[in-house]
Amino acid sequence: MLRRIPSPAAIRQSPRRLPDIVGQSLASARELSSLGAFVSLLDARAHQQAQSVVSRIESGEQLPLGGYIVAVKDNIAIKDAPLTCGSKILDFHQSTFSATVIERLEEAGAVIIGKTNLDEFAMGSSTENSALGIALNPFDPDRVPGGSSGGSAVAVAAGICHASLGSETGGSVRQPAAFCGICGLKPTYGRVSRYGLVAFGSSLDQVSPFAKTCAEVYDVIRVISGSDQRDATSSAAPVPDSACLEPFSGKLRIGLVKDFLEHEALEPDVRIAMNDTISALKKAGHELVEVELPNAKYSIPVYYIVATAEASSNLARFDGVRYGYRHRDVTDLASVYDLTREAGFGKEVRRRIMMGTYVLSAGYYDAYYTTALKVRRIIADELVNALKYVDVLLTPTTPSTAFKIGEKIDDPVSMYLSDIFTVPANLAGVPALSVPWSLDSKGLPIGIQLMAPHFTEEKLLSIGAAIELLRPEGK
Ligand code: GLN
Repeated sequence: MLRRIPSPAAIRQSPRRLPDIVGQSLASARELSSLGAFVSLLDARAHQQAQSVVSRIESGEQLPLGGYIVAVKDNIAIKDAPLTCGSKILDFHQSTFSATVIERLEEAGAVIIGKTNLDEFAMGSSTENSALGIALNPFDPDRVPGGSSGGSAVAVAAGICHASLGSETGGSVRQPAAFCGICGLKPTYGRVSRYGLVAFGSSLDQVSPFAKTCAEVYDVIRVISGSDQRDATSSAAPVPDSACLEPFSGKLRIGLVKDFLEHEALEPDVRIAMNDTISALKKAGHELVEVELPNAKYSIPVYYIVATAEASSNLARFDGVRYGYRHRDVTDLASVYDLTREAGFGKEVRRRIMMGTYVLSAGYYDAYYTTALKVRRIIADELVNALKYVDVLLTPTTPSTAFKIGEKIDDPVSMYLSDIFTVPANLAGVPALSVPWSLDSKGLPIGIQLMAPHFTEEKLLSIGAAIELLRPEGK
């Protein structure tokens, strides 16, 4: 099920090969269509961009992403391409503009081959909530690739492309990165423009890259970061500017989150991998200290109040009037909304809209929403404070490795618990990275998570790159 594509550096050496390699990438995406990674392929656009990249490189332009072949989660707008968000409600919708991240990728020389599968409106942890079919884990096709950015993770893990964009609201890049054995970075909130990313939870959402190595993730994040007039929440903080990433070479002080390492949901193989990581770091001379985050255990309930509240408002725009699908039996305005939204949204999205509407309703607003905002602040302060005393915090990315297709789909709470270790970073807005460490006894990838202070993506990735060098052999 795996493909190998020449590295971006090799392609830059002989740029004329790029159009052929792009063709091979598109062919691999089609041959591996049973993996369900892509929901649309953009052949014409990709070939055109490949030609333009060849001429730009030949005319001496230095393109930071020259040679990169990339896939994009289908909740990020590309002009004149379908934009489905994995939902029936956006059937036949074509975007009229491109997201800022798309403009930046193409300006930097990346070739985008297609749009990838996702849980509907990025709500889920397995890609089983897509209205366009499920995606499969390339390590074991009976298992999920994680979600909600499952398709983007599979596209990279299967070797179809070098890197991809996903989006994070509560772990949707780190969790599938861990399940598929690749790297995924959730940047600081505000690091990357959200213009053209379909909104789910606007105070949490960030476009987030995947690649096989931290160095490649760095290449992508460096290009897509930075302020954007079209997104008032984008930050003007300076963008990482080293031309390429070097593994961190100094001694580190690393915090171990005790409450996570002792968590009852942690599978034995993941615990063993964590212990191995800790031993390898100690052997390499780094200092490990225990850190307590006593309120992190409230992250899941807080997240599912804040994210659903924001989603219920953001998804109001899908009303049968403005975009894509409209139910054919509508008779009046009320039925346009009712019938379209009932038939257009899947079960999980309807559940979230109802939860979000409930927690924002007049009688419950203070009890749920206001309380959740207060607890969010406590969790965020605790995490930011802990990060003052260490370089990074180390935790498992997920409590388990990839689960079986269908295993959790009828048990939303157990699905929500996939995010227990990833959600705190989203609530606090700090950057967090998943790096593959080893395989479990079933041959499934295990990821470790590093969280770091706001706007320290470059250092975080350089620490990730140093950890890549410590991994056990034969992984
Ligand atoms: N799995 C989480 C959810 O279902 C996170 C989703 C995300 O990060 N987009 O909401």
